[in-house]
Amino acid sequence: GFNCGIVGLPNVGKSTLFNALTATATAQAANYPFCTIEPNTGRVAVPDPRLDKLVEIGKSQREVPTSLEFVDIAGLVRGASKGEGLGNQFLANIREVDAIIHVLRCFEDDDITHVEGGVDPVRDADIIETELMLADLDSLEKRLPNLEKRARNRDAEATAQLAVMAPLMEALREGRPARTAIPAGEEEAVRRLQLLTTKPVLYVCNVDEDSAATGNKFSEQVQAKAAAEGAAAVIVSAAIEAEVSQLENEERREFLEGLGLQDSGLDRVIAAGYKLLGLCTYFTVGPKEARAWTITAGTKAPQAAAVIHNDFERGFIACETVAYDDYVQYGGEAGAKEAGRLRIEGRDYVVQDGDVLLFRFNV
Ligand code: GDP
Repeated sequence: GFNCGIVGLPNVGKSTLFNALTATATAQAANYPFCTIEPNTGRVAVPDPRLDKLVEIGKSQREVPTSLEFVDIAGLVRGASKGEGLGNQFLANIREVDAIIHVLRCFEDDDITHVEGGVDPVRDADIIETELMLADLDSLEKRLPNLEKRARNRDAEATAQLAVMAPLMEALREGRPARTAIPAGEEEAVRRLQLLTTKPVLYVCNVDEDSAATGNKFSEQVQAKAAAEGAAAVIVSAAIEAEVSQLENEERREFLEGLGLQDSGLDRVIAAGYKLLGLCTYFTVGPKEARAWTITAGTKAPQAAAVIHNDFERGFIACETVAYDDYVQYGGEAGAKEAGRLRIEGRDYVVQDGDVLLFRFNV
C-alpha cells in the first residue's frame, strides 16, 4: 500500500488531525476493515462517490472503498538533522513514507505554546524543510568518499552515481530541496538514494474554527508559498475535524453545512494525498461487493490485476473494461455491452481512472 507521513513542529495539530483521521475510520469500522495498525499508523478509507453509485447500479451487497495509510511522525524540531529531539529516528520514519503531509499552525491560541515563539507558518515550514535538506546533504556527503575512490578506479557505476548526485548536492547546499534538481531521465536512480526532500509534499494549514471555510492571513501565506513551489495546500481546522469525526453521516453533513463547509477537511486531505501520490482508482463490481482498488497512474492491466491477487497477474488473459461514465449511463455492464461500450483489453492496456474491470485469467 501507499502511505503519507504527517510531519510538523510540535503543537501544530498533527495528533489532533491524525486522531480525527483514524477516528473517522474507526467510526466506519462496522462496514470497513480499517483500523489503527500501530499507535501511530492508521489506514483510512478513501471517500469516492463513484463507488456509492456503482454499488447501487450493480446491486452489490456491500461496498469496499480503497484505502490510504497515514503515519503520525511526531517530534521533529529544529536541529533534528543533528540528532536533536531523537531527530535521527524521526528522519528515519520519514524515509519510509511515500509522501509528506506537512501540518502548519495557522491558528492563534495563547494557551498553546508555540515552540518557535509566535505563529508564522512559512517560517515553521522552512525550519522543517531545512532539517530535511540537511539530513539529505549529510546522507549524500557520507557516500562521497567511497564513490569518488571507486570512480578514480574507473568504476562506471560509481561515476554515473556521482553525476546524478552532483546537481542534488548543489541544490541542497543552496537551500533548495532535492526535488528541484532531479536530472532528466534519472528519476529511478534518484529514488534509490531515498532522499527526504524528493518526496512530494502537501501543506495542511491548520486554521482556527472560524476560518475553516475561508482560510486566514496565515493560510494565505502558505498558499502563496505552495503556489511558488508548485505544491498543494489544503485548509483544515483540526479542532473541527476532531468533532466531525465523532458524527454519523447525516449529522456530519448538517454540522458541516452549518459551518459553511461542503465536505470535511479530512476528505480533502485524503483526496489531496491520493493525488499527491499519483494514484488512481479502478473498480470491480459483482453481486457480493463493489470495490475500489488503487494503482499508480500508468499501470497496465496485468499489474493492476495483481493488486487484487498475485495469481491474477501470472494468469492474466484479458480484461473486460467499461469506463465509469459509460457504466452509469448504460445502467451497468449488460447495458454497456449492448451499447458497444464494453471493450476487451489485453496486457498492454493502461488502466484508466474510473475503469470498471472484470479480469479473465487462467488459474
Ligand atoms: P502536535 O504536537 O502537532 O501533535 O499537536 P496536537 O495535535 O497535540 O495539538 C497541540 C495542542 O493544540 C492541543 O492542545 C490541541 O488541542 C490544540 N489544537 C490543535 N488544533 C487546534 C486548532 O485548530 N485550534 C486550537 N485553538 N487549538 C488546536
